[in-house]
Amino acid sequence: MSKVLIVGAGGVGGVVTHKCAQHPEVFSEICLASRNQDKCRAIAAQLDRPIQTAQVDADDVEALVALIESFQPDVLIHVALPYQDLTIMEACLRTGVPYLDTANYEHPDEAKFEYKEQWAFQDRFAKAGNMATLGCGFDPGMTNIYCAWGQKNLFDEIHRIDILDANGGDHGYPFATNFNPEINIREITANGRYWEEGEWKETAPLAEKRTFDFDGIGEKDLYLLYHEELESLSQNIKGLKRIRFWMTFSEKYITHLKVLENVGMTSIEPIEFQGRQITPLQFLKAVLPDPASLGPRTKGKTNIGVILDGIKDGKRRKVHIYNICDHEACYREVQSQAISFTTGVPAVTGAMLMLEGLWKGDGVFNVEQLDPDPFMERIGDMGLPWQMVELDPDADPLA
Ligand code: NDP
Repeated sequence: MSKVLIVGAGGVGGVVTHKCAQHPEVFSEICLASRNQDKCRAIAAQLDRPIQTAQVDADDVEALVALIESFQPDVLIHVALPYQDLTIMEACLRTGVPYLDTANYEHPDEAKFEYKEQWAFQDRFAKAGNMATLGCGFDPGMTNIYCAWGQKNLFDEIHRIDILDANGGDHGYPFATNFNPEINIREITANGRYWEEGEWKETAPLAEKRTFDFDGIGEKDLYLLYHEELESLSQNIKGLKRIRFWMTFSEKYITHLKVLENVGMTSIEPIEFQGRQITPLQFLKAVLPDPASLGPRTKGKTNIGVILDGIKDGKRRKVHIYNICDHEACYREVQSQAISFTTGVPAVTGAMLMLEGLWKGDGVFNVEQLDPDPFMERIGDMGLPWQMVELDPDADPLA
């Protein structure tokens, strides 16, 4: 019986709140707090048990501390924006409350996607006997746990990892992003980057393209991107020689993105407009469909997983571990599309394991540093069942 404080009432916050509410045996009291309390109230009204809501500016450490001291949670799930990671970690440290998030810290004015500033909390969390779990969504999150589970149970050494993120969903709009457009477009317009033999290699944005035949959704074009889990997995998977991340985009999506980029709409450099400073990407976010509104319109499935290639008992082995998630089924269950669902369900599962002491430790942890077994045992019942297919170790499915 524990109290959970959820910060952020967007697409993912809605799923996290629904899923916590479905498990009163663990989350006996819930408080959902966000910048705009009306959004919290709207989510609360969808539930069949009462929860508390609150207004908080998560950029303000003092305001967070005051909220935490008044609600006294046993765990905090941060699903606001990556800009708030450091302030929320600071507030958790000051109040002794365990912390969990789904995305690494981003500076509002720079697209960096790196863990450095969150890892810098390591000593303070360890000294305080407190725990911070980083990156417990789907990717990062579930994909890291697939890798950790493979390392523990399937391989002596994993040599190559390809993370494949496919969205076969259709929301009917000519262009919309499935999660926060600012974060999504920052990721996609940055240079591609992967890690090989201890070095980072860069590619031009969306320059590397492959096709892959996904179970449940068919053949899709994949593009190589940098994604934050590459940083921690390249350090935490022993014997690793290469790790890459691939995401599917349709021709239509790429064409829209190129036009927006060419006209300067994806820039994060402020410009002067009618006597005031605006950031083009933030303006673009304001005119694009709200990701939370895509739920009722999205049809189709996602397939996200990892191809692990390594050695077991002296022999090569290659497996694909993945989850297939259906947008419409997610909407029926929690009034949200699959991208928010696949992020929120691992976050709630991770928080449960922390509360139950199955994930424990003093310090700051990326999820692959924690025991993958209880997570893999539970995640199917929580709503994200996984499958594993043995692949021909000599064939390259991404050739
Ligand atoms: P949304 O933009 O839909 O929701 C973000 C929420 O945070 C909004 O309710 C917003 O409030 C609130 N918020 C923003 N700033 C503040 C603030 N200063 N104080 C309090 N609340 C604030 O995003 P998503 O739900 O799509 O994403 C949530 C998180 O999940 C992001 O960090 C995202 O990067 C991460 N994510 C991770 C994935 C993974 O697989 N690991 C995949 C997808 C997302 P308002 O409504 O007022 O703007």
